[in-house]
Amino acid sequence: MVSDHEACTGCGVCALSCPVGFITMKESSEGFFYPEVDKGKCVGCGLCEEKCHLNHKVRFEEGKAYAVISRNKDELRSSSSGGVFSVLARKILDSGGIVVGCELQNGTYPRHVLIREAADLCRLRGSKYVESDLLPVLQELAEEIRSGRKILLSGTGCQIGAVKKLFGENDSITYVEILCHGVPSRSLFQSHNEFIEQKYDDKLTDIRFRCKENASWNTSYRFAYTFQSGRTATVPAYKDAYYMNFIKGNIMRPSCYRCAYAGNRRIGDITLGDYWGVENHHPELDANKGVSAVMVNSPAGERFFNECSEELTVIPTKIQYIQERVHALKAPIPRPSERDGIYARIEKIGYAAWNRQYSHSRLRRAEGVKAVMKTLLPDKLRVKAARVYHGKSGRD
Ligand SMILES: Cc1cc2nc3c(=O)[nH]c(=O)nc-3n(C[C@H](O)[C@H](O)[C@H](O)COP(=O)(O)OP(=O)(O)OC[C@H]3O[C@@H](n4cnc5c(N)ncnc54)[C@H](O)[C@@H]3O)c2cc1C
Repeated sequence: MVSDHEACTGCGVCALSCPVGFITMKESSEGFFYPEVDKGKCVGCGLCEEKCHLNHKVRFEEGKAYAVISRNKDELRSSSSGGVFSVLARKILDSGGIVVGCELQNGTYPRHVLIREAADLCRLRGSKYVESDLLPVLQELAEEIRSGRKILLSGTGCQIGAVKKLFGENDSITYVEILCHGVPSRSLFQSHNEFIEQKYDDKLTDIRFRCKENASWNTSYRFAYTFQSGRTATVPAYKDAYYMNFIKGNIMRPSCYRCAYAGNRRIGDITLGDYWGVENHHPELDANKGVSAVMVNSPAGERFFNECSEELTVIPTKIQYIQERVHALKAPIPRPSERDGIYARIEKIGYAAWNRQYSHSRLRRAEGVKAVMKTLLPDKLRVKAARVYHGKSGRD
């Protein structure tokens, strides 16, 4: 357990490690989970501190960087970036291994689960822009590790750090790290979902955060909802208070603003992200349906990545190129002043009122204009405009 409360990433490993079970994970008023110790009963064994990943950060040296696209067109379409995760995961499943990643349980609750069949891969596919509940799968994972089966474990840097610290270095696990600039709380996401259900007067059965149907990768920041009645709806990010405040970094877990895993030295054997701006460096690639930025950081990661390369289009690139537009590869996301008190304000006025305020805000108007320009501009002109804009600002 880390002594600095704000740095805690809420993995729950301290609670799991406590031999007397006197640490419980308690929800904060913002909906993030933190350990609470029953001090009167603590036996002072120190295991919770020893098992905390934040007390022992180990990272690889800067890895090799690639621009990568999956050759599987269907999977590429339903993935957030270049579809690399599905190719890596399928390789492990085909060899009798198991894969751990984030699904939306019942279409709305983000949690890590373990899958054994390629047919279940669709449950993990796609980014869920919310904190995933990691703790429940860890117990199950311990048994699988004992069985010696091959395991692919995917998650954000802090989740990989937590699992590595819990189980120690283990040759049977390949760690696939998902680049991340931060996560909002599950309870805020739940409020968002309840608001959507009320608005559509229907129960949500599935939510996708990145929808490439009738859109290019560049305009894929859109919610795609499926409801119990069978009805579907897509909503661009700029029209949604939750989505846009996530992109802007206004609603992240406090520890995300000081993420211990940001930077060019990574913790996963392989790191996956979006290769924004790829057209500036590799115009030969068809970026329309998504390109992954892949960092291969360890010898084991390199061996495994090579085994999968037949199913991928792989172009060597430079990590500096990716860093131009992916802030997480440089530093933690800066904490904006908008973050202060935002959860308390939403709680006070209610989610619907917050959403209404957003829909009349300058941010909404500005993002709306940007999004329309992106959709209307022909590809070549859009790339040129992006080059000018990002060349000047250097932002993601
Ligand atoms: C919260 C979050 C923030 C991100 N921020 C950035 C960013 O700033 N820059 C950038 O380049 N890329 C970011 N990404 C990564 C990007 O969106 C893609 O997930 C990544 O490129 C993998 O894409 P893919 O096409 O290979 O596979 P996909 O099929 O799209 O990704 C599926 C993988 O993501 C994992 N995953 C999904 N949601 C979560 C979650 N909530 N927590 C942990 N693991 C999850 C699944 O377990 C699976 O391993 C972020 C992802 C998340 C979840």
